[in-house]
Amino acid sequence: MGSLPQTVSEELYRRACQVLPGGVNSPVRAFRAVGGVPHFYASASGAAFQDVDGNLFIDYVMSWGSLILGHAHPQVVAAVAAAAARGTSFGAPCALEVELAERVVALYPGCEMVRFVSSGTEAVMAAVRLARGATGRSRILKFDGCYHGHVDSLLVSAGSGLATFGTPSSAGVPPALAELTVVVPLDDEQALAAALKRHGGELAAVIVEPVPANAGLLQQRREFLAALVEGARRCGALVIFDEVISGFRLGPGGAAAHYGLTPDLATFGKVIGGGLPVGAYGGRRDLMEQVAPLGPVYQAGTLSGNPVAMAAGVATLDCLEREAGWAQLERSGQELEERVQMVLERGGYPTSFVRLGSLFWLSLQEGPAPRRLDAIRRDGVDRYAVLHRALRDRGVYLAPSAYEVGFLSTAHTEEHLERTAAALGAALEEAWR
Ligand SMILES: *Cc1c(COP(=O)(O)O)cnc(C)c1O
Repeated sequence: MGSLPQTVSEELYRRACQVLPGGVNSPVRAFRAVGGVPHFYASASGAAFQDVDGNLFIDYVMSWGSLILGHAHPQVVAAVAAAAARGTSFGAPCALEVELAERVVALYPGCEMVRFVSSGTEAVMAAVRLARGATGRSRILKFDGCYHGHVDSLLVSAGSGLATFGTPSSAGVPPALAELTVVVPLDDEQALAAALKRHGGELAAVIVEPVPANAGLLQQRREFLAALVEGARRCGALVIFDEVISGFRLGPGGAAAHYGLTPDLATFGKVIGGGLPVGAYGGRRDLMEQVAPLGPVYQAGTLSGNPVAMAAGVATLDCLEREAGWAQLERSGQELEERVQMVLERGGYPTSFVRLGSLFWLSLQEGPAPRRLDAIRRDGVDRYAVLHRALRDRGVYLAPSAYEVGFLSTAHTEEHLERTAAALGAALEEAWR
């Protein structure tokens, strides 16, 4: 058989697979869930990227939500270049980390002190350690369908039957560690109350993505979140909001401000680094004072508070505040919603468009949009693979997994949204053919 002509992406992917597991540095990127070969990005600007074969796409992944201002925003690029020219890393204090910390403290409810790390995973890992250190308790409670990075104690899913202790959802996580995690379904006050009654006295923390956005967009009722906060406090457990996606995206105060609920600790990532590797955890002063060097909870990082990354974060928050970015994102979200709803109604597809601010998700199934993981049906997931390919053919790039949400940036214009809705109409037709 003669060899078929190859795209540059195919050739790069072939090479990548020899030296990187699955050809990637993070699993979803490998396109296993949608089929085909991942597009290797060549360059990106605003709402669009170009792959190494010269194909242009409207991007709704936006580095998984990190790029709230779009790709290569001029002000972020300038701030990064200026910072880099002054030194790319100090491993010592610098002014920019104070500046970013002051902004976080000013914007996020109940956040009196913050510590910067290099990823969302690290932020969650440190927040959990702090909660354990501060309470002297070992167990934590999480919700099925919330993702908190690849932290060992949180790569855990619900055990079988009535056992609420978690079982590892990844090889390499010791069952003994997973057993310290209690797993409860979202949107279920009764299950939560039962778990708190049983384990409340041993819980260091209840951790939740207040806007669960890693298994679809599983919008929670405010009453459920309020019950969670009150229930945890009644047991003496700390409340950790994982706002790695929602923080500085839903608004300056994240989901905490949106729902009017203040956690004891919160974790950040993605937007806060403006496209560079930054995470952070913060919260009540008395808790944060337990962190080394003030307190006994150890946590450190060679590149923490990195000046180039801090500059990107400061520039990003600066633009959002100065240019009323959050209001613009809400308008774009509404605009996209209206256009997509029209397409869905016209075609009569059993699909709901779920949206909160600049986060959106297509639930490809009949009935109301799911609020918990076990309500997501398999046939919709399979159909998504077809939809994804059909959209790619039309220059629209959604995340290569049915479980990932879409991200709008301030760089997405009305024209982008119009083109997206038109492409979606044609792609849906293909998916249901
Ligand atoms: C992305 C994400 C993380 C992990 O952040 P990384 O920077 O990928 O380590 C943690 N929690 C939530 C809610 C996330 O969306």
